Amino acid sequence: MKSPIPDYLQRVLEKARPFNTGAPASYIDVLAKADTSRSAVAVATVDGSVYSAGDDDVEFSIQSISKPFVYALAIQDQGVDRVLEKVGVEPSGDAFNRLSLEAGTNRPMNPMINAGAMATHALVVSSDATMEQRVDRIVEALSRLAGRQLYVDEEVYAAELKDANRNMGIGYMLKAAGMISCDPQEAVRGYIRQCSINVNVRDLAMMAATLGNGGVHPVSGERIMPQESARQVLSVMTTCGMYNASGEWIATVGVPAKSGVSGGIIGSLPGQLGLAVFSPNLDQRGNSVRGVAMCKQLSRDMGFHMMDMSQIGGASVRSWTATIAGGSKQPNACQQDVVIFELRGAVRFAGAERLTRAIIGEMDKIRASCEDIAGMHAKPHVCAVLFSFRNTYSLNDVARRLIHENIRRLASATNVVIIDPTGVLKLPMDQPPDKGPGYQQPRVFKTQAEAKDYIGGIGCRVVSDDGGI
Ligand code: GLU
Repeated sequence: MKSPIPDYLQRVLEKARPFNTGAPASYIDVLAKADTSRSAVAVATVDGSVYSAGDDDVEFSIQSISKPFVYALAIQDQGVDRVLEKVGVEPSGDAFNRLSLEAGTNRPMNPMINAGAMATHALVVSSDATMEQRVDRIVEALSRLAGRQLYVDEEVYAAELKDANRNMGIGYMLKAAGMISCDPQEAVRGYIRQCSINVNVRDLAMMAATLGNGGVHPVSGERIMPQESARQVLSVMTTCGMYNASGEWIATVGVPAKSGVSGGIIGSLPGQLGLAVFSPNLDQRGNSVRGVAMCKQLSRDMGFHMMDMSQIGGASVRSWTATIAGGSKQPNACQQDVVIFELRGAVRFAGAERLTRAIIGEMDKIRASCEDIAGMHAKPHVCAVLFSFRNTYSLNDVARRLIHENIRRLASATNVVIIDPTGVLKLPMDQPPDKGPGYQQPRVFKTQAEAKDYIGGIGCRVVSDDGGI
């Protein structure tokens, strides 16, 4: 069975395509020539699944999306207190490239504007490191986050350096204010190299998921940064990540995020996932027009707003297979099995996505073992799939819709039986319009006994059931 999530992402992308306003960043000539038809979206869960749609392997320079990750590195290399002496955490309300410092402290307002990002860059490794040492460290760290080797795009670097007067001005301002100790030109060149590292949306989603996973890489399991750094970075993204639209963003989308001038945006939802979108046309405030549209839709559809946290609880999925000895129906040599899934707790997208994978995994396992017994063309026979919601406290909207869709897909292949004492699943009793061939209406029962009777009645006889449905 195929997961419905990539299909959903494709729909999100198609809905955003008609948004044709805006223009690519014009002050870096390579970016100005970007193919504006490109669009992509990716979501990575904190346990390492990545889903994507569109131009998901097209690379673009990371630009300002590097800033949160380099901030995390500076904290790692110098400690948070030293970093806070040189860079503040207040939203500035100014343009990202404004020559400005905080009154009283002389610090740049925050690490997401250029002044703060350059001061942050200059803290990586140590204050007397060379530009090469800093850039090497940054490329290596971003590569570990992405899970593959990343490179500086020399063409983008050269294009930005050619007209870097404003950024050079910021570098000299920082030097004069005592906020950097290295050569200001070195700090600016290193910062521009950091911005010129190429990534795609799948890389970015994984990097964002690492932040959302408290600094532990979802796939390698490696702790890339301490939990406190991840929290610090996400906090600053929340208040300062989306240029001058940060307030509106957090009120509408509600996900800590960072945007960049090449048209990328990342979002990171603690404990759940990282997301990334890309499309080069920017709005007046420098954020990708289609990217913002996709993020708004994802947040709405999938209940991502971080202030909607009332029932986050620990959701968990258990699944097991009860072996069937025989029964009235036995269409081929394969064993008839009852596959059981139990969902516990307050379930949101992350829990429902885990259930989706458990379903796919169990069905694939059965298919493989059936083919072992009866050859390549054997049709595996699952006598029934049973879902138990006895210990499900709640389902949010996206979790419920994802489970409904999984059930719809399964119901075309087998009997689906549901134990739902409190009606938490709210399964519609009408057959869905696009039910597909062979669809059998799932049966919903209030008790285990009723469900077991029904399963027995359709010829599935459980001989081993260690799960205690
Ligand atoms: N390298 C770009 C600059 O400094 C990054 C800007 C951005 O993505 O916000 O102007």
